[in-house]
Amino acid sequence: MSFAATILTLYPEMFPGPLGVSLAGRALREGKWRCDPVQIRDFATDRHRSVDDTPAGGGAGMVMRADVLAAALDSVADARPVLAMTPRGAPLTQERVRGLARGAGVTILCGRFEGIDERLFEARAIEQVSVGDYVLSGGEMAALVLLDACIRLLPGVMGAASSGDDESFETGLLEYPQYTRPATWEGRTIPEVLRSGDHARIAAWRKAMAETDTRLRRPDLWERHEGVRVPSPSGARRHDGNE
Ligand code: SAH
Repeated sequence: MSFAATILTLYPEMFPGPLGVSLAGRALREGKWRCDPVQIRDFATDRHRSVDDTPAGGGAGMVMRADVLAAALDSVADARPVLAMTPRGAPLTQERVRGLARGAGVTILCGRFEGIDERLFEARAIEQVSVGDYVLSGGEMAALVLLDACIRLLPGVMGAASSGDDESFETGLLEYPQYTRPATWEGRTIPEVLRSGDHARIAAWRKAMAETDTRLRRPDLWERHEGVRVPSPSGARRHDGNE
């Protein structure tokens, strides 16, 4: 069964785009996933084929019309989840990506302009997803990000490298740092433990590094992982003083 991606967009020529090369491109040619972009404008009903209009209440830019988007969505409706890319959505996580990759595919709605008439989200079952706390000019790049994350998890796409259980976020932690030959580069050597051949020591070192790096770089992830409150800076100082 192949993973079917239907993308509703004003720029269907952006797909598969970068997903046509490398792992995802090969998987596409092998039929492990399908890429079906749909031109939203084909569902416009007026003479000018308009898909947007000025914002109610005033302000800059244009807003995508609910009626046109609903017609486009209804034309592809099936059992697959419908996602809309929007900075107002729930942050995308590896857990959600894994869930989507296990399913039959997704329908993705890409916004443009100032966004989408809110009534669409009331009238249809649509999951709103964000790829980060920054603003893109359109949902297409965000859709490509989401699809790339899903496709690499599809059976047979990554081969032996597979979706390593150690990988960043799979354990709730960042991955440990990686090294490869040459053993010495610009006077820097690969940590001795990684050259020891002692698999237990290597595993312990990697776990410790994953924990330290997550704590220092992503206190938010660390807090969730530990299920504890990260001490405030003043709390940490007091703790140190008592030791
Ligand atoms: N005025 C909106 C931003 C519109 S950006 C706001 O401030 O919330 C235009 C389109 O780009 C959006 O409709 C959405 O589809 C896409 N987009 C922009 N940033 C995004 C993000 N962080 N995640 C997902 N989609 C995003």
